[in-house]
Amino acid sequence: MIEGALAEGILARAIQRELLTVRARDLREFTEDRHRSVDDVPYGGGPGMVLKPEPLFRAVEAIARDTGAPQAIVLVSPQGRPFCQDEAARLAGLERVVILCGRYEGIDDRVRENLATEELSIGDYVLSGGELPALVIVDAVARLIPGVVGDEDSVAGDSFARGILDFPHFTRPAEFRDWKVPDVLVSGHHGEIRKWRKRQAIELTLQRRPELLADAELDVEEQEILRELMERQKGAPHGRD
Ligand code: SAH
Repeated sequence: MIEGALAEGILARAIQRELLTVRARDLREFTEDRHRSVDDVPYGGGPGMVLKPEPLFRAVEAIARDTGAPQAIVLVSPQGRPFCQDEAARLAGLERVVILCGRYEGIDDRVRENLATEELSIGDYVLSGGELPALVIVDAVARLIPGVVGDEDSVAGDSFARGILDFPHFTRPAEFRDWKVPDVLVSGHHGEIRKWRKRQAIELTLQRRPELLADAELDVEEQEILRELMERQKGAPHGRD
């Protein structure tokens, strides 16, 4: 699952260019019994199986021996702290990160307490394994490594990069089924385009994710736009509230 996803697109190119290394480890390689079992029934009873602690501890110890001690050992779990762009940026600054993926009902809690250095969730829903969350984290982190995404400005303008959402994008044709690209974008007025994009990004954030604006890094022009939009909202006869 992990290797399949890493074989495509931006991630594959980044790995090929050695901008990052990702290695998937099979927990069964770190078992000692004949059946190579990685799971067992839960103490106390109940449905499902639980990942045993030994293979996870051994896997991390082997990784530390092979490549050096990791600076973070992330357990992915629905009970973790919400993974967000700031967390991605923090992890992108580390040299070696291990991500522990659960399965079944989850992982023996001694792994969370004594092996993981942190616990991250990718959202309030339950997936059947930690592989997709791990890939989500790897992808978000990889985009922030210089050179992975061709154009650095593209990453700097992404949603959440400065705490606000991205502005809408358009490409050719200028008119498609009667729907036209906003005039300003085809006008060639760079100053106007820049302002329009800022206004769109702030308006979108204000409408959809106003809570983001509290921590957003806005420049003077953007602060002015926000003030104006908020004034207008207050004055509107049918405000959102
Ligand atoms: N019984 C657990 C869910 C286990 S799901 C509970 O209710 O919390 C199996 C594994 O999938 C978890 O151990 C975790 O590694 C992964 N997983 C599932 N949903 C996730 C999410 N939203 N974020 C991160 N990891 C998740």
